[in-house]
Amino acid sequence: MIVDVHAHCWPGTDCFSASFLADAQRTRAAAATAVSDHEAYRAATGGKDVVTIVFGGKARLSGVWLDDAQVAAYVVHDPRRLLGFLSVDPTQSGWEDELRTGHEQLGLRGIKLMPMYAGFLPQDERLDPLWRYAAAKGLPVLLHTGTTFIAKAPLECTLPRNLDEVARRFPDVKIVLAHMGHPYEGETVAVIRKHANVYADVSALFYRPWQLFHTLMLVEEYGVWDKLLFGTDFPVTTVEQSVRGLRAMCDIRIDRFTLPAEEIEALVHRDALSLLGLPDPRGTTEASE
Ligand SMILES: [Zn+2]
Repeated sequence: MIVDVHAHCWPGTDCFSASFLADAQRTRAAAATAVSDHEAYRAATGGKDVVTIVFGGKARLSGVWLDDAQVAAYVVHDPRRLLGFLSVDPTQSGWEDELRTGHEQLGLRGIKLMPMYAGFLPQDERLDPLWRYAAAKGLPVLLHTGTTFIAKAPLECTLPRNLDEVARRFPDVKIVLAHMGHPYEGETVAVIRKHANVYADVSALFYRPWQLFHTLMLVEEYGVWDKLLFGTDFPVTTVEQSVRGLRAMCDIRIDRFTLPAEEIEALVHRDALSLLGLPDPRGTTEASE
């Protein structure tokens, strides 16, 4: 089994404001605003047995918004392969209600946050109710960390080091730093190394092979392979492309440095569901909730 911890559900381009779409067109991220559908996702898994964590996102500052009900509706199409996460933008009123509704009524199993896109610090004390709720309900929290193409999104909100304070105060919450926090991967390694429940995903990194080689060498030297989770950032990349891209990292040799193929394979097949305390939707009757 492969667990993809990072796939997007964007049912239509009305999830994005005109300015967001204009900024996205300047970069490869244009693919991120493509409408995503589950049939296209399945067609690009290479026939592999894949369970997928899927979410939208909410960030009023940057012009991104998908109601959680639409994520729940997406999951219903394939409840034995999909687990949905809710989103909140804590700069907007009503987010605490959305948190409870998303979990308790829509059956969503975790939380996706976009601190930089929305303009908040994840360690801000005003978010304490979110972290307490996540701890009480066993909801993993996946955060975008790392770069963006949106000019008004504040970089200070995206730094992996911000999650060090969160993890010190809420050590029981399972946290995933998306995209290894690129290009701040060194900070990500420092944070995942010291906190038992903090992980990082490798989604949407293989197409910058120089940077990813360097990143994975850091992972090797600091001994934190077991904290890396597989992800695609679909529709930015697919399962097939990501598996191929990760395996291709083993073809690189720089002086005496190479990456261990067995660690790459272990990463691709890591059981992220167990690590994040999530149910396996393939074998449970509650998956259709
Ligand atoms: Zn993403």
